[in-house]
Amino acid sequence: MTSSTAVPPAEAGHRAGERRYRSRFGTVTVPPVPASWAVEPTLDQYGRRIRYLRISLTDACNLRCVYCMPEHMTFRPRHELMSDAEVLFLVQVAASLGVEKIRLTGGEPTIRPGVVELVAAIAGVPGIREVAMTTNGLLLDRLAEPLARAGLQRVNVSLDTLDAEKFHRITRWGHIEDVLRGIQAAEDAGLRPVKVNCVVVRGFNEEDVVDLAGLTLEREWEVRFIELMPFGAITDFQTSGVVPFAEIRARIETAFGPLEEVGYDFQDPSRPFRIPGARGTLGFINSVTEPFCQGCGRVRLTADGKLRLCLLRDDEVDLLTPLRAGGSFQEIRELMRAGMYRKPWGHELSRGVIAAERAMNQIGG
Ligand code: SAM
Ligand code: SF4
Repeated sequence: MTSSTAVPPAEAGHRAGERRYRSRFGTVTVPPVPASWAVEPTLDQYGRRIRYLRISLTDACNLRCVYCMPEHMTFRPRHELMSDAEVLFLVQVAASLGVEKIRLTGGEPTIRPGVVELVAAIAGVPGIREVAMTTNGLLLDRLAEPLARAGLQRVNVSLDTLDAEKFHRITRWGHIEDVLRGIQAAEDAGLRPVKVNCVVVRGFNEEDVVDLAGLTLEREWEVRFIELMPFGAITDFQTSGVVPFAEIRARIETAFGPLEEVGYDFQDPSRPFRIPGARGTLGFINSVTEPFCQGCGRVRLTADGKLRLCLLRDDEVDLLTPLRAGGSFQEIRELMRAGMYRKPWGHELSRGVIAAERAMNQIGG
């Protein structure tokens, strides 16, 4: 990896197989990883199999979307974030517990130095079948191709409107052409089918869902509409800005006629539909009005190394501190397993319970 260069263990007394890295975070030591492991599939306390880990590679971002973070956001200092070696170690631990799919997110994952090399390393972990990324797309123009070569299989690109001015307003300074170029680069690099994520926010883009849905008439994309969720310090804005699924669907149906519902997978948070005759599909992620917790087999790793058990609950297990304190593969694995086991059933937005400790960019949406 370019950003974490392996250095030979120097001092006597290190555990056999321990690896030390010099990285932009300083010297990092990760404990030995067994040469092979028997995968032990992990179920949570409700019998849901945990297969999917979403990793926030950084809380920082090159945009400031109004629904994600306050305008003047302070990001964590580098030494508080997981180094590449630590991310890779925790992916190996997760794979040994049956995780098969990794999604890299943030903040903006593409701004992390060395992201291509990190993707290659993660894609090479035995048991990991799929590596995907959620990105704002700004840097895909130059990164899509190397990321695809490194083993990235798919991207979800956030795009909330096709109107350049509204895009600028929602992201506080972004230029839509950069995203459109990024999506094209992703397609050219074979990162298909491209999924487009649109968060619908009252007063910003509720009318734009029609143009975005219309993209699927000619393109084999999946355009997904996400209900706004409340987090962190801007929950009043987020709660009042929710545009419910029923309204989004009605707007699209007014323009294109009744939508067809297509093959629903209960483990996928996105409810799929199609405009009759369209080449692509629409997806609706109705976290607020139609929670899909029943099929949730996801956990998250925050950029500062906490296993977050549910996107919308503040319950987390610190893995980075024990790892930096010298915890072994087995010890960290037991912590991760115990955390996965006690994953809560789901969120409690309907009872007014809001996860307020972190903003979305700090969790990794
Ligand atoms: N920066 C990348 C991006 O924008 O795609 C990845 C991180 S972003 C936090 C991940 C996803 O969360 C994006 O699709 C974004 O639109 C969505 N998101 C952010 N804040 C949200 C909120 N309050 N409610 C629902 N979705 C949100
Ligand atoms: Fe950045 Fe993504 Fe949050 Fe927008 S949604 S501010 S692009 S992390």
